[in-house]
Amino acid sequence: MSLRVVAAHKVFRAHGGARVVALDGVDLEAADGELLVIVGPSGSGKSTLLRAISGLETLDSGQVIIGGRDVTGVPAGRRDVAMVFQEAALFPHLSVAANIGIGERARGARRREVEARVVEVARSLDVEHLLRRMPGELSGGERQRVALARVMIRVPSVCLLDEPLASVDAELRLRMRGEIRAVQRSLGIPMVHVTHDQLEAMAMGDRVAVMDGGRVLQCDTPAALYARPATTAVARIVGPLPMNLLPAVDGVVVGVRPERVRLCGDPGGGRPGRVVAVEPAGEECLVRIQTDSELLARLPLSDVPQVGEQVSVVWRPEDEHHFDALSGQRR
Ligand code: ADP
Ligand code: MG
Repeated sequence: MSLRVVAAHKVFRAHGGARVVALDGVDLEAADGELLVIVGPSGSGKSTLLRAISGLETLDSGQVIIGGRDVTGVPAGRRDVAMVFQEAALFPHLSVAANIGIGERARGARRREVEARVVEVARSLDVEHLLRRMPGELSGGERQRVALARVMIRVPSVCLLDEPLASVDAELRLRMRGEIRAVQRSLGIPMVHVTHDQLEAMAMGDRVAVMDGGRVLQCDTPAALYARPATTAVARIVGPLPMNLLPAVDGVVVGVRPERVRLCGDPGGGRPGRVVAVEPAGEECLVRIQTDSELLARLPLSDVPQVGEQVSVVWRPEDEHHFDALSGQRR
């Protein structure tokens, strides 16, 4: 059941009557078995988009199409869309096992069958040992995994995850990314995963849609987003570090990734600058260099200069990205 969102618009009226444009003409597509990740800063419209797909929010205009069927006017309960929210909402008076199985029970499945499925899905999300506990006895990360289990106990047409890993600690998050991927592949349905963490987006997504201000700035594979960001905004959002953008010359902004900046032994051989800060990062260092503008460089430990040192900065011509200074669009 592929998923398509066409020209979605949504405006909220805030208190005092101010208009908030949450979705400003969003087009998206996710195929069967595809994990589409939506990444963007807080307030960019990610949750509104997921809520509109699930039917919890109505669009002002535009369409939601699931498996070729226009469900724009169909109520949430009849869309067969499963969603995990930013804040996992569990029934506080039901055990973890009952929380995971409640949807299946409500659909009339046999108790024995549901119990078996609950154990199976709890095992795959590593919450089997928690089945008898109550939601109040769980950590934030455990609650999220239980909420995931509740969704993944059956195969919906589409699965939506709204920052499900936000409250999970770093080590577990890494493992859960892999588990979500594995479950998603086995379900073979479109899954839309929202995050504000671009590293998570690039690690998980078959494709990644970068959102800002209610618009999709670019939607492509992680490799393509990194290699050819369509705008300066995407260049700043995507990548292990924001791309350096140099002051415009003749209407062109040159961008270069910090991981492609190098120091040159010959003082006259590159752009002169002074080291203003050095920050160790494992095998590498992040070095802030004041040239005619400030540049960030990610350098191997063996190359790290001292703060205050005069250096010369270079990069290969093929590592330059060119953008239009006015529109920010890639040239
Ligand atoms: P994200 O999930 O990317 O952080 P949201 O989709 O939650 O962003 O919100 C997008 C914009 O719409 C924000 O400016 C937010 O304040 C606004 N917004 C969301 N829901 C409502 C609402 N129910 N009423 C008014 N404004 C809202
Ligand atoms: Mg949100």
